[in-house]
Amino acid sequence: LNYRTVQFLTSAPTLAECPPDNGAEVAFAGRSNAGKSSAINALTGNSKLARTSKTPGRTQLINFFSVSDQQRLVDLPGYGYAKVARSMKDEWQRHLAFYLEKRQCLRGLVLLMDIRQPLKEFDLHMLTWAVESGLPAHILLTKADKLKNGPANNTRFAVEKALKEQGLDTGVTVQIFSSTKKTGLDKLERKLNAWLALEQ
Ligand code: GDP
Repeated sequence: LNYRTVQFLTSAPTLAECPPDNGAEVAFAGRSNAGKSSAINALTGNSKLARTSKTPGRTQLINFFSVSDQQRLVDLPGYGYAKVARSMKDEWQRHLAFYLEKRQCLRGLVLLMDIRQPLKEFDLHMLTWAVESGLPAHILLTKADKLKNGPANNTRFAVEKALKEQGLDTGVTVQIFSSTKKTGLDKLERKLNAWLALEQ
């Protein structure tokens, strides 16, 4: 699949307003500042796509991008902005849970974490949810350029070990990623290609 021709499709404030639930979809999630916009930019080569998602403190939207008419990438807003009211966070979490549980075409979840602070509470919630509902998850340890290769790989092993210990390793894979250096971009593309394949 060619991710350079990905286009913005639509934004949806609730699941009811999402595009039709057909074909195949992969969702991207992460805490604010995890590097999600940068990763989507690196993947698509289009800096305008992910910028549309950056609305801190404002209404959170699920953004849909089309890879083809039957294949989509979905940007799930991160949360963690202190400025967002508690009630709004709760409401957003309900929308998110609903999307993740009900969306039939969802094939996998790409979960982004800053390599210097992986497996925070939000990440564990998302992973627990994915594992319990049998949805495959792929972790990107982002901003890997901030660490030398040795420590970066050690973090990956430590994350894999922690997931195993917590029973969160079923269907979960982990890779190192850097948007600035394009590290691991090919690996991410292979994962997306496999998940988005239409004959499954
Ligand atoms: P988002 O909130 O998850 O969309 O995160 P952003 O993509 O906006 O990135 C948050 C911050 O981390 C920004 O200052 C980026 O420049 C920085 N950042 C993102 N990806 C990388 C990366 O691969 N390497 C480095 N060094 N910084 C990054």
